[in-house]
Amino acid sequence: MPRSVAARRGAARRGGWTSSSESGLSPPGAGAGSVGWVIDGAGGERVVALTFDDGPGPHTRWLLDELAARDARVTFFLLGEHVAADPATVRAAHEAGHALGNHSWSHPDLTTLTPDEVRTQLARTADAVRAAAGVTPIMFRPPFGTYDDALLALVAERGDATILWDVDTRDWDHDDTEQTTRIALDGIRPGSIVLMHDPRRSTVAAVPGLVDALQADGYRLVTVPELLGSGLRGGRLYRDARSVPEVPGR
Ligand SMILES: [Zn+2]
Repeated sequence: MPRSVAARRGAARRGGWTSSSESGLSPPGAGAGSVGWVIDGAGGERVVALTFDDGPGPHTRWLLDELAARDARVTFFLLGEHVAADPATVRAAHEAGHALGNHSWSHPDLTTLTPDEVRTQLARTADAVRAAAGVTPIMFRPPFGTYDDALLALVAERGDATILWDVDTRDWDHDDTEQTTRIALDGIRPGSIVLMHDPRRSTVAAVPGLVDALQADGYRLVTVPELLGSGLRGGRLYRDARSVPEVPGR
């Protein structure tokens, strides 16, 4: 089952990306020692990116309908073997305006594989997504949230950005709709990236109420590329839209 072991690697490093007007980002405030970019709470937008891993699954079509009814866009980090089994749902997600990312072919811990095995996991999945939806993923999320510098270098070799999260609903652990909703609402701030799993019934059941609550609170639900705007670059690692991206290997 999916587990998320967020391998924290210390404070985000400053450098190299520009402000994105599309995503409502602005440079950090005057506070001494402040790190990274922050959402401009006055003039900026309240935006959040819900992300769904390990699909498509049996509930994904239902989820797409619920999102469409609310004009909400999300990001799917897909497993290649599930894409190959249900390409029509992946195409429907793309055509509805959702973003598609690469979550490996079969969800191994990629840090235990050889470089060529990793390349195959990523390339087969990208090929399956392209065959299904006509687009090539430019974002990667490591299975279990587990990564090391060698893996990030292989992701960078493809030109993909690595996308983690700042809010983990832990749906994979408690499998409870109310807890998923509460953890998300407690943790989300403008610019957040939220980890969820659409193959789980308890998770997709939480989404309509969660989206309604966020929209009532003034949030716009956007894809990760919309959230990061022009800040999204291959070879970098992101946890949210507030911190500067980390540049592996420096
Ligand atoms: Zn996963």
